[in-house]
Amino acid sequence: MAYKPRGALDGLEENIVTGVWDNSCKYHRLMANENPYGCSALIKEALLKTMEDGPSNYPDGYTTALRMAVSKKYGIDKDEILFGNGTDEIIYMLGKAFIEPGDEVVMPEISFTSYISSCLSMGGKLVSVPMKDDLSVDLDAVLASVTDKTKYIVVVNPNNPTGTVFCEKEQYEFLKKVPKDVLVILDEAYAEFYMGESFPDSYSKLKEFKNLIILKTFSKIYGLASFRVGFMIANKEIISLVSRVKNAFNVSTPAMAAAVAAINDSKFTEMVSENNSKCIKYLCKELDEMGYSYTPTHTSFILIDIKKDAAPLVAALSKKAYLVRPGSDFGLKNYIRVSIGTMEQMEGFVKAFKECLE
Ligand SMILES: *Cc1c(COP(=O)(O)O)cnc(C)c1O
Repeated sequence: MAYKPRGALDGLEENIVTGVWDNSCKYHRLMANENPYGCSALIKEALLKTMEDGPSNYPDGYTTALRMAVSKKYGIDKDEILFGNGTDEIIYMLGKAFIEPGDEVVMPEISFTSYISSCLSMGGKLVSVPMKDDLSVDLDAVLASVTDKTKYIVVVNPNNPTGTVFCEKEQYEFLKKVPKDVLVILDEAYAEFYMGESFPDSYSKLKEFKNLIILKTFSKIYGLASFRVGFMIANKEIISLVSRVKNAFNVSTPAMAAAVAAINDSKFTEMVSENNSKCIKYLCKELDEMGYSYTPTHTSFILIDIKKDAAPLVAALSKKAYLVRPGSDFGLKNYIRVSIGTMEQMEGFVKAFKECLE
């Protein structure tokens, strides 16, 4: 090749999503944890208004209206928030802001892949921590993997793609044991889908743990994946450092307007999480009857053990218009990850699943 890229790019693949990615309704899209109920009806008016305000102007680089809405909703200082073009952009910003060649990022082996490329592209070294036997995150093993080269730890709770959670007490004990100079990135993209009694309250821990960074997204429970809005919450010093590598206008005016409208529609989010739980119960019951095991999930997807190479099943399901994620994408070739759709879609999926396995 005539052009010599940075050495850190050698280990990376092209980050282009391929395969069937068809936005028409020909397929049941159960591969990307998209919201099957769409999004709040309130965003339409908000979007139209942005057309009147003038699409030719740059967006508000401080994302003020959304900042105020998020600050109010989560009870945090407005300067402890940083927005991104999807949480994905923040994940890359964190790499740019903190990783120098040779620095280590500690992360469970089966987790969200964006963290891997954001680390490697900066010349960082990924330290993959094995999962527990039940595929949940092993927080003790994560702690044991921290060295004096560790820049940050990434834990996703509930984890993607396993769906497993760690509770309040486990989270608190873990945070207490992390060295103060090591950052903890806590990705809570699916927190609103949690079905237990109470999800760990990570916001209240920001005061005690100055090294804590919480990531949130508008792509899942709010159903705004196409608008690309995510945010991080952390103490002001960290926000200030990361904002040095932020693109000035990374959240567009329509995206901000949609997110502001969505964040205040709790009727919609409650409807989504209620239906999601019902569909999970239905799907688990069916899988139990068929004798397939799965990891107990607290998210909008489920990881199913097919007990043999799942690739032919993924292909067969797509012929029946059900798109699911092959576990091989996460190093679990005998599994599929299925996003939780509507009840109708889940019934259709179960039927297709049975037919494909015959
Ligand atoms: C979906 C998801 C995100 C959010 O991604 P966006 O870029 O905001 O769409 C972040 N983390 C995890 C673990 C996810 O599954």
